[in-house]
Amino acid sequence: MPGYRAKKRLGQNFLTSQAFVDRIVALVDVSDRLPIVEIGPGRGALTLPLAASGSSLYAVEFDQDLIPYLHKLLQDYRNVRLLDMDFLQFDPSHFDIRDFILVGNLPYNISSPVLDWCVAHRKGVRQAVLMLQKEVAERVSSRPESKGWSPLAIFTQLYFKVTRHFNVSAAHFAPRPQVASTVVTLTPAKAPKVEYPEAFEAVVRTAFRHRRKLLSNNLVPTVIPDQHRAVEIFEQLGWEKNTRAEELPTELFLELTRVLVDRKII
Ligand code: SAM
Repeated sequence: MPGYRAKKRLGQNFLTSQAFVDRIVALVDVSDRLPIVEIGPGRGALTLPLAASGSSLYAVEFDQDLIPYLHKLLQDYRNVRLLDMDFLQFDPSHFDIRDFILVGNLPYNISSPVLDWCVAHRKGVRQAVLMLQKEVAERVSSRPESKGWSPLAIFTQLYFKVTRHFNVSAAHFAPRPQVASTVVTLTPAKAPKVEYPEAFEAVVRTAFRHRRKLLSNNLVPTVIPDQHRAVEIFEQLGWEKNTRAEELPTELFLELTRVLVDRKII
């Protein structure tokens, strides 16, 4: 696209390697012919091969300056619908889409919101193939007792299996980003029953508020009114006083939430 200047604020780092385009597209499961939603087609690196797969493709691009170029590029594909909007406002039900596959080389500034979007729309997301900043990919796929274990990992892994596939170095983008990227897939996982979703979310987010603090110090006073009660609850659960949020697997956060609700604390 001669004369076009990439916009930093929209996270525009365009993929330039055909080999990586092929590897990313090969991860997309087109076997059920589900509609594909692409986040940020940009200059169309992934969009063209996705369009060629024959599946219905909804390509959602926020940058109005790219729209005329994309229209032209995709004009021969009747299966493609180009949507000129912010993906975070995209509601599949407005387009009569139920189950779908999400694909995107994500603009880095919206990677966490897109993962939250996947959780919010989990009933429809049958697969997501996403290129993320390497550090975000590590965080979202991390396990308890590691430094990346976080609300992002907990909420995403509650509903999805997160698999890291391969890294893509900054050299394969124009302009070059500051950091390396990793391609991950999300596939639906069998979720444990979350009896009190709002309370659970409040407990998890509060538990990680200050990473250096002990779990009880994070929970008091927002979730548990005082230390005395925190000690009692930890005793009931059989937990050490110096437990930290990073140590707890999801099931234990669910158990803590249940105890807090049963005792009418939350
Ligand atoms: N898919 C292209 C590629 O792989 O070369 C472009 C990827 S580039 C990292 C991110 C793209 O997302 C850009 O085209 C940018 O304009 C677009 N974008 C940024 N924020 C967006 C948003 N909120 N909704 C939809 N697209 C967005």
